[in-house]
Amino acid sequence: MADFSTHLVGATAICSFAAIVVAKALDLPGTETLALVAAGTAGGVLPDIDLERATPTRILFTVLGFVGALTWLFANVGRFGALELWAAGFALYLTIRWPLAWLFGKFTVHRGSLHSLVAAVMCGVLTTVFAWRVCGATPRLAWLAGGFGTFGYLVHLSLDEFYSVDFSGARIRRSFGTALKPLDLRRPWGSFAVVVVTLSGWFFTPPGADAITAAHTLHASLIDPRLRSELLLQRLAWPARPPGLP
Ligand SMILES: [Zn+2]
Repeated sequence: MADFSTHLVGATAICSFAAIVVAKALDLPGTETLALVAAGTAGGVLPDIDLERATPTRILFTVLGFVGALTWLFANVGRFGALELWAAGFALYLTIRWPLAWLFGKFTVHRGSLHSLVAAVMCGVLTTVFAWRVCGATPRLAWLAGGFGTFGYLVHLSLDEFYSVDFSGARIRRSFGTALKPLDLRRPWGSFAVVVVTLSGWFFTPPGADAITAAHTLHASLIDPRLRSELLLQRLAWPARPPGLP
């Protein structure tokens, strides 16, 4: 199993490269690009909230509590007074750090339902809903953030499988195949909960029209060979030096 820092560095490195490619293809501003990196990195560490070991889980829920509280606070800074913002942000932090952490510790099993492809989709749906409903992101940015949440989650599951192979001894550990599975059939109730949360979350997602347009532009930039040279290569190229500059 890859450790916490491996997941953090791996997800940040891969998602920041992917975010730069998407930003170039869609002409995204810097703040939106950073939001995509943050969503991907969060997705890259989230699957291990099912860990039984105390320290990484404590760190993860402390960070999640801070990120959740600060995101809510900055998204609502114009709507509430200073004392209300502080009190609600602190209450949100406490809720994530203690009751939510306790719930996950009690009802999840490591490498169970949360280490599956359906859980990766759930992460994307919940990220989209959070970005749109809580942070006030545009539908396009919310869907892109959801895509990066799922992508980061998949990076995590892939790293777990990669670390299940002992290359020095040329053997495969018992944990191989327990991360990158479609659904955890050994724990039907846990898998059922993941599917229900995913489908319920879908009803709170923003309209998909902007996301479909963005997906078409990305597809045209990255896959369609006729347009790839026109769009991708131009946009990924270093900006040409303006005439007149030395
Ligand atoms: Zn894991």
